[in-house]
Amino acid sequence: MRIAPETVVLGTGFAGLTSAVRLAEDGHRVRCHGDGAVGASQQNFGQLHSGAVYAPVLPEVAAACWQHRSRWFGLLDAETLRSHGLALFTNHREVERYTLAWSSLGIPVRPMPAAELDHIGIHPNPAPAAAFALPDISVNVMALQARTQAHAVGLGVIFPLSESCVPVLSGNEVVLRDPSLGYYRPSTLVLAAGHRTAGLLDLLGIQHPLAVSRLPYGVLEGPNRQHLLTYWLDGDMLALSPQPNGLHVALPGRVADPVDESKEHYRLAASLSRRWPALPAEKLRLKWGHVAEPASVQPDPSALVVDLSNPSPGWGQVANLVVCLPGKWTTAWHAADQVAQAVAASG
Ligand SMILES: Cc1cc2nc3c(=O)[nH]c(=O)nc-3n(C[C@H](O)[C@H](O)[C@H](O)COP(=O)(O)OP(=O)(O)OC[C@H]3O[C@@H](n4cnc5c(N)ncnc54)[C@H](O)[C@@H]3O)c2cc1C
Repeated sequence: MRIAPETVVLGTGFAGLTSAVRLAEDGHRVRCHGDGAVGASQQNFGQLHSGAVYAPVLPEVAAACWQHRSRWFGLLDAETLRSHGLALFTNHREVERYTLAWSSLGIPVRPMPAAELDHIGIHPNPAPAAAFALPDISVNVMALQARTQAHAVGLGVIFPLSESCVPVLSGNEVVLRDPSLGYYRPSTLVLAAGHRTAGLLDLLGIQHPLAVSRLPYGVLEGPNRQHLLTYWLDGDMLALSPQPNGLHVALPGRVADPVDESKEHYRLAASLSRRWPALPAEKLRLKWGHVAEPASVQPDPSALVVDLSNPSPGWGQVANLVVCLPGKWTTAWHAADQVAQAVAASG
C-alpha cells in the first residue's frame, strides 16, 4: 500500500470546499474528491442567513450564522451584497420576542413602513402587522460554489478528475482506493458527503447517530427572481427565496417516510396562494431536499464536526477520520474552522 501523507476531503459541496480552503490555508497538501452528483449545496434556497430568522428559537445557530457569514463576502458580487431580506409578522405578539433576540445578538434590522413595502411592490395577504428589512442575502449558490472552488484551486487544493475514490476501513484507519493512486492512507480523511455521509458510515461499519430526513419545498419557475427573499416569522412561517431556476417556496419541518407527496404539495401551494395571491400557486412544482442530522436533536442543528480519533458518545472510533456536516451552507466556514482544529490536533 502506498503511503501518501495528504489530507483528503471527500465531497465538493460547501462543507468540502470550505474545509479544503481552511486546511490549505494552514499549509496542508489537500486533495478534494467529488463524484459529480448534485448535493444540497447546489439545490437549496440560497439564503445567506444573518441569523435573524433563528434568533429567538435557535440562538446558537443564529450566533454562528451572524459571526461567520461575512466570510462569504469576498466571494460575492457587489449587487448581491446590496440586496436584503424581509421579515413579515402576522400580528404583534411575536415582534417583541424577535426584536429582543435581534438586539441581543447585535443583528441590525430596520422597520419597514407599509408605504415602503408598497413602493417596492410587496403585497402579501393579509397586509403584515409589522415588517423589517433583514441583513439576509439571497445568493446564487451555483455561482458561489464555482467561485469557492476556484478560490480553493488558487490555494493549491487538487481536485482529481477521478470520480470513484472509495474509502475502506482497515483496522481502525480509513484507506482510500483511488484509480490513479491505488490504495493509500490519507493523514486525515474529512468526510463532507452531505446527507450521504450516513450511508457511507454505514457501509464502512462505523457507528454514528445520524438519520436522513426529507425536506419538501416548491419551485415556482418563471420570472419571479425579482421577488425579495421573504420570511413570515409567525403563522405558518412561509419563506420565499429567489433562485436562478425560480422562486423557492418552503415551510418549516422535515418529513419522515412514507411520504405523502400530494399532501406536501397541497400544504405549500395553499400557503403560497393564501399569503401571495398574485403568484401562480397552481404552477408550483414539488421538490425534495435531504438532510443528515443526529436523530436525537431538534431539526436545524448547528454545525456538526466530529473527530473520530477522539469520538463523542454514539460515534465509532477511527484514527484518521473527521466528519463534517455544516447544518447550513451559511455556517460552512464555522464547520471548516472546527475541521482545521481537529486536523491540527491530530497532526
Ligand atoms: C432544500 C434545502 C434548502 C436549504 N437552504 C439553505 C439555505 O437557504 N441557506 C443555508 O445556509 N443552508 C441551506 N440548506 C442547508 C445547506 O444546503 C446544507 O447544509 C449544505 O449545503 C450542506 O453542504 P455539504 O457540503 O455538507 O453537502 P452537499 O452539498 O450535499 O455536498 C456533499 C457532496 O459530497 C459528494 N459525495 C457524496 N458521496 C461521495 C463519495 N463517495 N465520493 C465523492 N463525493 C461524494 C456529493 O456528490 C456532494 O457533492 C438547505 C438544505 C436543503 C436540503
